[in-house]
Amino acid sequence: MAQEDVFKKIVSHCKEYGFVFPSSDIYDGLGAVYDYGQNGVELKNNIKQYWWQSMVLLHENIVGIDSAIFMHPTVWKASGHVDAFNDPLIDNRDSKKRYRADVLIEDQIAKYEEKIDKEVAKARKRFGDKFDEEQFRSTNPRVLENQQKRDALHQRYSDAMNAMDLAELKQIILDEEIACPISGTRNWTDVRQFNLMFKTEVGSTADGASTIYLRPETAQGIFVNYLNVQKTGRMKVPFGIAQIGKAFRNEIVARQFIFRMREFEQMEMQFFVKPGTELEWFKSWKETRLKWHKALGFGDDSYRYHDHEKLAHYANAATDIEFKMPFGFKEVEGIHSRTNFDLSQHAKFSGRKIEYFDPETNESYTPFVIETSIGVDRMFLSVMCKSYEEEKLENGETRVVLKLPAALAPVKLAILPLVKKDGLPEKAHEIMQQLKFHFNCKYEEKDSIGKRYRRQDAIGTPFCITVDHDTLKDNCVTLRDRDTMEQTRVPIDSLLSLIEEKVSLISLLKKLQ
Ligand code: ATP
Repeated sequence: MAQEDVFKKIVSHCKEYGFVFPSSDIYDGLGAVYDYGQNGVELKNNIKQYWWQSMVLLHENIVGIDSAIFMHPTVWKASGHVDAFNDPLIDNRDSKKRYRADVLIEDQIAKYEEKIDKEVAKARKRFGDKFDEEQFRSTNPRVLENQQKRDALHQRYSDAMNAMDLAELKQIILDEEIACPISGTRNWTDVRQFNLMFKTEVGSTADGASTIYLRPETAQGIFVNYLNVQKTGRMKVPFGIAQIGKAFRNEIVARQFIFRMREFEQMEMQFFVKPGTELEWFKSWKETRLKWHKALGFGDDSYRYHDHEKLAHYANAATDIEFKMPFGFKEVEGIHSRTNFDLSQHAKFSGRKIEYFDPETNESYTPFVIETSIGVDRMFLSVMCKSYEEEKLENGETRVVLKLPAALAPVKLAILPLVKKDGLPEKAHEIMQQLKFHFNCKYEEKDSIGKRYRRQDAIGTPFCITVDHDTLKDNCVTLRDRDTMEQTRVPIDSLLSLIEEKVSLISLLKKLQ
């Protein structure tokens, strides 16, 4: 099946099984805004727990905060967002559709890369074991030609972005003959800058009102609390502050479901270090964060680093962790070495001294910062994409199963009485009563057992138990494993120990040590 079709199926699965709904669905939705349903909220909370605990529980020197979405407007002046949080946009005059000029060009670069990958894959098939990829890439004329086109375009694009040369961005789009996917024409407007922050007003009267912004990132809430936390928590550098919260960006193009939203959630951690040690810490956080992703068991080839060539003016190193989505490798997390830019800017704009006094050297300095910043929703999407499977069964049927990592699954155990009578529902409820304090259990009695198993497979429930007539005599139930579909007879008393270890977050967190 084409990857595009797989993605469409995942999007409709998310709606059909209560994971993600369009916002204001009965009013036909609101662009790039989504609601999480009964299963989605559980999965999302589990992802957040996994991140939070990996930061705050596993690191003695990291603490959390929860800062407000509204902040003093000067924060965004100091951070540079008022002046520079822009995307270059371009409109197609025929379709009236708006695009990000940088994204159009990046997609074009990706097209050259895809052509090269296709050639390599074809050759690999042809030559089998004897295939020498390195030699092929350095000698095949078609690969070399596409590589040369890709590199030249990439260089031109980087130069234009570094200089924010909007006319040159447009010229690249024209020279590369990039057409609007809707109208198919190349009738483009000029490229313009567009600020991504949402504005609103505070104040009880219209005249007294003052403009404030919905935060476009959670990080600034951490920087402005640096002194509060460092002093009250008696924190010693190096230390980190973690936060999970909503962020808002007026994204020009709403695309790819929850990949790019106007209201989304971030999990950010700012790690304050001694100047001069930041690149070591950057390296170490790069590794720590990739390990966190890989511990979910989706396979190492699902991830890659993308080191930034174009650095933000305040950064001295930056990388993305990209995940192989059905629409290509895409950024899920950014790791940035932000120097002392943010703290220094806030010191300047607030007039406060924002420093750290090092008791060992008797020196004061402005700490440097390593940031790890991951979008909850993108993480959610990557988990969904990798877990969704359509499996052909021996009897010729197809089952849709979400092979979610057990610790993230919304429901851990479904408790199913074989029939709705003969005391089986009562027995099933009795079991539920014992286990519901330990993990999320769901009781279901409607429809045949087969149908109920399929429903649980579709929401990723790792285990089901069936309570049958024998249960009343031998106190045993049938335990079914989601992935293998194997069924075993086990005593009710052993359920807790059998299941808890496999579904608890603790087992996942232990992999990080
Ligand atoms: P992009 O280049 O895709 O716009 P970004 O580099 O601007 O992303 P950051 O500012 O580094 O993103 O934000 C950190 C993380 O927040 C991203 O890695 C991503 O997971 C998430 N994120 C950013 N923008 C959005 C959005 N519009 N919708 C959902 N998640 C987002």
